[in-house]
Amino acid sequence: MFQITHKDGKARCGILKTASGTVQTPFFMPVASRGTVKALSSEEVLNLGFESIISNSFILSLYPGIDVIEKLGGIHKFSNFKKTIFTDSGGFQVLSKDFLLKKSDEGVLFKDKTGKKNKYTPEIAIQNQFKLGSDVAMTFDDVAHYGLNGKDYVDAIKRTHLWAKRCLTEHSKLKTEYGSKQLLFGISQGGTKAEYRRFSTTKINRMEFDGYALGGLVVGEKRVELFDTIKEAVKCFDEHKIKYLMGLGSPPDIVWAVGLGVDCFDSIYPTSNARHGALITSKGRIDIFKKKYLEDESPIEEGCKCDTCKNYSRAYLHHLFKNHELLAYKLSTIHNLYFMEKLLSDLRKAIKKGNYSEFSEDFLKEYFSGNENKEFSSNIQQKYLEKEIKEGARFLLDWKR
Ligand SMILES: [Zn+2]
Repeated sequence: MFQITHKDGKARCGILKTASGTVQTPFFMPVASRGTVKALSSEEVLNLGFESIISNSFILSLYPGIDVIEKLGGIHKFSNFKKTIFTDSGGFQVLSKDFLLKKSDEGVLFKDKTGKKNKYTPEIAIQNQFKLGSDVAMTFDDVAHYGLNGKDYVDAIKRTHLWAKRCLTEHSKLKTEYGSKQLLFGISQGGTKAEYRRFSTTKINRMEFDGYALGGLVVGEKRVELFDTIKEAVKCFDEHKIKYLMGLGSPPDIVWAVGLGVDCFDSIYPTSNARHGALITSKGRIDIFKKKYLEDESPIEEGCKCDTCKNYSRAYLHHLFKNHELLAYKLSTIHNLYFMEKLLSDLRKAIKKGNYSEFSEDFLKEYFSGNENKEFSSNIQQKYLEKEIKEGARFLLDWKR
């Protein structure tokens, strides 16, 4: 199911096998919460080289409804995405203020957008993902949010373990009954408090999941806290298991986390940034709204082989964004996602050659050298990165809507 093929320090390359094919690790998944990577068709996402995407079963349950998608042949047929599809259980969304009415060990009572009260339990989360027919389902976890303290924090962690067990039981029951090949990944919680994160990760690691994820991170914590937590938590999972860090997506973060042994990522970072006119280049992000791009004939990035850079100028993109033209979102998303897939592909090549350290050093040096990162220096690195995480957190809020 998961095989490690190369190692370079803690970084590794491998292959994940699912019912819809193989995924080379480390990999990044574009987010398709509603069964669509915003602004692109499934064929366009596949043409960019991605071997998997992640949808959200809770969001899909609100509309068009799980039974509708099941009736129409499942998530692959419905969205015409022919490779691996992960589905999130939607713990992050259902527990947000927008939906949550009541939470207990049994499950959650939430109100949907029409005001109707609904029940959501670990069993329902698994049944929904099973009906969608995704390749990889995620457990329903109680997100121990950053900033949560005291009893609520400990209860969230304990409940995550309780729910993980119930997800596992329900999933193995359905798998046996229907002979399905769907995989189930467990999620550890614990925020950034080292002892709690170790406790939760060790506990989840002991359960028989097909893969293992770190949840409840990239939600506003300091960069130092985030990376200390990743470092500690990764050690608590068995070496040979696939490790997924949920929600991490800025290029330097991914480069760092791959070096700590993380295999799998998803984030709205590249797609959300694209739609806000923040285009990723090897010298950091550029803000295409700036007046200096009005007559700039060069592509977003010189040498980039994406369809946008091959055919269009910064001036054209600037014009599209300034006028809210729909094509702006498509062209910018194509470029940002191409950048991400190329980065992951370069990382895999570097690991295979035993070059991870040199590659990451060169990449990060160049990434923070850009003209629009002028303020950047080693002294203010933390400040700059904190700004990034704040923006990331803002985008997370956008995503919840
Ligand atoms: Zn490009």
